[in-house]
Amino acid sequence: MKKVIVIGAGLGGLSAAIRLAKSGFDVTVSEKNETVGGKVNSVEADGYKFDTGASLLTMRHVFEDLFNFCGKRLEDYLEIVALDPICRYFWTDRTVFDASSNIEKTEREIERIAPPDVGNFARYLADSQRKYEIAEKTFLAHSLNDLPKLLRPKYLKDLLAISSLKTLDKHNAGYFQSEKLRQLFNRFATYNGSSPYETPATFALVPFVEFGLGAWYVRGGIYEIPQALAKLADESGVKIRLNCAVEKIIVENEKAVGVLLENGETLRSDFVVANSDAIETYRNLLDEKFFSKKLERREPSCSGFVLLLGVKKKFPQLAHHNIFFSDDYKAEFDALFKDLRPAMNPTIYICATSRTDETQSPDGCENLFVLVNAPYTSEKTDWQIEAKNYRDLIIKKLENFGLEDLEKSIEFERIITPADFEKKYRTNRGSIYGVSSNGIFSAFWRVPNRAKNVKNLYFVGGATHPGGGMPLVLLSGKMACELISREV
Ligand SMILES: Cc1cc2nc3c(=O)[nH]c(=O)nc-3n(C[C@H](O)[C@H](O)[C@H](O)COP(=O)(O)OP(=O)(O)OC[C@H]3O[C@@H](n4cnc5c(N)ncnc54)[C@H](O)[C@@H]3O)c2cc1C
Repeated sequence: MKKVIVIGAGLGGLSAAIRLAKSGFDVTVSEKNETVGGKVNSVEADGYKFDTGASLLTMRHVFEDLFNFCGKRLEDYLEIVALDPICRYFWTDRTVFDASSNIEKTEREIERIAPPDVGNFARYLADSQRKYEIAEKTFLAHSLNDLPKLLRPKYLKDLLAISSLKTLDKHNAGYFQSEKLRQLFNRFATYNGSSPYETPATFALVPFVEFGLGAWYVRGGIYEIPQALAKLADESGVKIRLNCAVEKIIVENEKAVGVLLENGETLRSDFVVANSDAIETYRNLLDEKFFSKKLERREPSCSGFVLLLGVKKKFPQLAHHNIFFSDDYKAEFDALFKDLRPAMNPTIYICATSRTDETQSPDGCENLFVLVNAPYTSEKTDWQIEAKNYRDLIIKKLENFGLEDLEKSIEFERIITPADFEKKYRTNRGSIYGVSSNGIFSAFWRVPNRAKNVKNLYFVGGATHPGGGMPLVLLSGKMACELISREV
């Protein structure tokens, strides 16, 4: 049996490990932390449960496909709950808008806040669907290592059709008269940690994922997902070693032949799959001759500033997912990506799983996961100094939005900064989605799933193709498995 070492038990690593084990490989996962799941993590304290990373499940079929690959059914492992509304949006002028994958409901909401845009929404969604369907059979189905295949006439026409020299913001402005709707659809750039003012209109495919395919929660919390994958991995014969950081990838004659662990142990293998952040893997786990300037130039995705708030009060105005928009979206992204500074008037996201799931907080209380986009780490922000003031600013802003007495009601609290994301998961500058998609050709700038300069080394996870977000990193695992299977 050929041996594979997977570095990291994030979702990309677990996906690759499961598929490889089911394909007949002897797979060991070596994870630095004490738990599986990487950035999909959780905290439990004082009767409150919080997911500390991903909160929204989309592209459910990608998860089903992984379980089906193992001859299992997703629903036997996870209780998946459809959300309606998917998200509640709040603006400072007190406008509230519920987005639903029931299109008629959403159209009624648009009719209420921006009547001339009802027809524009239908046209927008049709374009989004067309873009998604093209991406699904090209970009999301093939590794970048198969670029020559993608450039065949059969796919090329399609790829050109979804490529765009326009930014997402310009694209959205072309559809919607309402500034509010333009802002709402601009927000989808943040699903891969990018700016709508720089990311190409190709990413206008994301709204179809949510409005067209649906959005879900997992009862018990999103952390149930990595736990289910760990179970599936175990049943598939994968060995997972926790608290087991890799110090170096051993390369002999330009070929990966195993890893050296930080505890001094050596694990030899035929293939190495790095789920550790791809840029960090090149920077720290390989000899510096393999690290290029091109890699250094890849812009990390944004990071996140998170507050976990256990509050002894109900906020009935909240849905499961909520967005409190700032008045100047452009200024926010300029702060994040140009100045590398936290925005002083940020858009705030709150996930309150307690609205859907009584297991998440004590009676009469809410578990608020508060997330604000934050710049990737740099010398421009010292979070040790700034975290407390930024936290105060966010709480005040939420109180102004009508979350009365929020400060007074907090009985459990934890802050997670970009510096924490960087340290805990060894991500490139605390990025939470790998590399950004800011730039017209950014999609083709991700690290390919098969290393170009080290044989038998493969990459999965957010910094690799096809990108960040739970379903996409699962797809990266599928692509790596397909590439490795072709080698034997
Ligand atoms: C706050 C936040 C909100 C998000 N919201 C959503 C959302 O709503 N929906 C969605 O789909 N996605 C969301 N995401 C993104 C999603 O969580 C990630 O894209 C995805 O989980 C990343 O998976 P990955 O495979 O890249 O691995 P990671 O999660 O990055 O895991 C990599 C693993 O490798 C380990 N590792 C690193 N170096 C080493 C080493 N040297 N040795 C051993 N182990 C090592 C790390 O400890 C880690 O466990 C969010 C992320 C965050 C942080």
